Amino acid sequence: MSAPDFGRFFLPGPTEVHPEVLSALARPMIPHRGREMQELLERIAGPLKRLFRTERQVLVGTCSATGFMEMAVRSGIRQRVLSLVSGAFGERFAAIAEACGRDVVRLNVPYGQTIEPDMLRDALRRSDVDAVTLVHSETSTGALAPLKELAEVAREFDHVVILVDAVTSLAGSPVETDAWGLDFVFTGSQKALALPPGLALGVASEKLLERAKTIPERGAYLDLVTFFKAFSEAQPTNTPAISLFYALEVQLQRIEAEGGVEARWRRHEAMRQAVERWIEGPGGEKGLSYLPRAGRRSWTVSCLRVPDGMNGRAISQALRDRGWTIGSGYGPLKQSTIRIGHMGDHTPERVCELLSELEEVLR
Ligand SMILES: *Cc1c(COP(=O)(O)O)cnc(C)c1O
Repeated sequence: MSAPDFGRFFLPGPTEVHPEVLSALARPMIPHRGREMQELLERIAGPLKRLFRTERQVLVGTCSATGFMEMAVRSGIRQRVLSLVSGAFGERFAAIAEACGRDVVRLNVPYGQTIEPDMLRDALRRSDVDAVTLVHSETSTGALAPLKELAEVAREFDHVVILVDAVTSLAGSPVETDAWGLDFVFTGSQKALALPPGLALGVASEKLLERAKTIPERGAYLDLVTFFKAFSEAQPTNTPAISLFYALEVQLQRIEAEGGVEARWRRHEAMRQAVERWIEGPGGEKGLSYLPRAGRRSWTVSCLRVPDGMNGRAISQALRDRGWTIGSGYGPLKQSTIRIGHMGDHTPERVCELLSELEEVLR
């Protein structure tokens, strides 16, 4: 990772894109129905499966991650869904289901907390739903849901599928698509994958695919069945964002060169730990604290409460004036928190430099 200027942009999406990946965008076009495109899709299929920890076909769409939220809803929910809401993106998933005419039952906890397995079991016993939507790493609060355990609970209910937003967890912390029995799991290109925005990537279980075939009005552009058929033949659905596919291939090669997705997880864990250590020391002394509790903290985004009398936006602006970018709080947490997006190609060393700058700003 020898790019001297790289490593000052810690927004929780879009994340900083490495120059090697950016340069892939400058390649000339190829026909999207030609042999070269097919070969590109064949080349990335294996690395994508390893990234998603699945034996199934990974689907890539030209849309942001929200597009695949809509795909999950329209191809995955028959009638009634239980939406787990502990932040802005959980609420977005619920709102999309409503916009698509589904009945939505929300299970809410205060922002910064997570829904725990027993709460999910109770809710599923009480309400007759055919699907669950949830966000693994809630980017608006920095909280990480216990996905493996939640999926286990969902599997106790035969007629329920589990639809997972893994937008800021996949490629940055463990997501075991097949082993955890996730029916639909998706991410976007501009978060932990550290690509430019514009692609959504996801996997559907056989159970979900079979269900989708029986759901009418799945739409056209984001129909899961169409996507699955096309990608099974190494074909794009429509004219894809070809340049972003070039960048994706380069990034998949870089991930494999690092030692695969597990090495990437370890690097992200080290970045989270760097922030935790800082909060136990100088950061805490300056009055900052975590919004989520220990053990429920995202590996890719740290959401920190700022001391009374300070303003999260002012802190991120002061950092910006020094050449460093972090996120301010999201929605109702705009003033009271800051968010550091330490995902993608960032390193623990750069995170520590950022935290020193932050200390200067707080002085
Ligand atoms: C960024 C984000 C999204 C939305 O992604 P877009 O690519 O902007 O559509 C959804 N869920 C989570 C958790 C996110 O962080």
